[in-house]
Amino acid sequence: MKALVYGGPAKRSWEDKPNPTLQEPTDAIVRITTSTICGTDLHILKGDVPEVMAGRTLGHEGVGIVEEVGPAVRNVAVGDKVLLSCITSCGRCDYCKRTIYSHCREGGWILGRLIDGTQAEYVRIPFADTSTYKLAKDANEEAMVMLSDIFPTGYEVGVLNGAVKPGDVVAIVGAGPVGLSALLTAQLFSPAELMMIDLDPNRLEVARSFGATSTFDASKPDLVEELLEKTGDGVDVAIEAVGIPATFDLCQKIVAPGGHLANVGVHGKPVQLELQKLWIQNITLRTGLVDTYSTSQLLKMVNAGRLEPIKMVTHRFPLSDTMKAYDTFGAAAREKAIKVILQAGR
Ligand code: NAD
Ligand code: ZN
Repeated sequence: MKALVYGGPAKRSWEDKPNPTLQEPTDAIVRITTSTICGTDLHILKGDVPEVMAGRTLGHEGVGIVEEVGPAVRNVAVGDKVLLSCITSCGRCDYCKRTIYSHCREGGWILGRLIDGTQAEYVRIPFADTSTYKLAKDANEEAMVMLSDIFPTGYEVGVLNGAVKPGDVVAIVGAGPVGLSALLTAQLFSPAELMMIDLDPNRLEVARSFGATSTFDASKPDLVEELLEKTGDGVDVAIEAVGIPATFDLCQKIVAPGGHLANVGVHGKPVQLELQKLWIQNITLRTGLVDTYSTSQLLKMVNAGRLEPIKMVTHRFPLSDTMKAYDTFGAAAREKAIKVILQAGR
């Protein structure tokens, strides 16, 4: 089969690889029908996630058809269409029992990181019963694949960790797919204001069309002063959805006393934590790797038409053009890209 293989920082190739095979009785082999690329894949290529070894197939988002199941798999069968969660969970360990699936003793975020991922024709899914969601045969795969990672991430690590409440003033720094997912799911809680901050004018325009009440160019030198002036004391919730020191710093400078700072971005470098200023302001700082405990809830909202993740899709490529899809997603501002879909035979 063919797969998108990481070759070390800044190196990737579309290569032949042996098809995956069942290794444990709880495994399934899934033929990928729809996949996509995440901002985290770009971090991996920047070298920000050093545990990813050369030779690894990337990708932790996907929808596919079950081709083969191990003898212990109960919930999914050959021929089923399934959504693959970016987080693998055994469902049995101490962390899974506390719904901290991201730290499952035998799973967690392993797909496209510690085991081969979903930007390939086939993928092995460990603990298939607890790591996949059965979809209707006619499910919109492009909408569903947004629930592998970006929607649970924006919702759990941004909106829920940020404790967005009715009437809150919320600032989201980073209008990529994750920041935009936070923007869409924050609206479930009726905040008074939703401010989006990014460098990319196109993404800010998309943010306004998705319900942002105001948008700001992150390159403005007096942005902190402008935001503090506009909000009085600062924002109730600051969501960091970029993953660089500058955006974390912006969040800690604009959060109001009693407010929440929810960091979503994957950081490759340390940040300067202004604890000497934050403690006396009663700031709650949350961080986290997504657990995907909200996936079933999000699926229901999408099926009921309360969330429209398909709005994120700007580009489509055949799976065999994954290299080109990376070029496009990697130049998102120039290409006006939000989420790029990789289509395989459906
Ligand atoms: P992305 O790269 O598509 O988007 C990042 C956005 O940040 C872009 O729109 C970019 O223009 C903007 N940006 C860059 N520099 C900026 C600056 N100085 N000020 C303001 N905006 C700036 O990525 P994404 O897919 O939306 O993911 C966002 C972050 O979330 C990434 O760090 C990703 O790794 C992380 N992530 C975290 C989890 C988790 O479990 N915590 C899961 C998935 C993704
Ligand atoms: Zn577990």
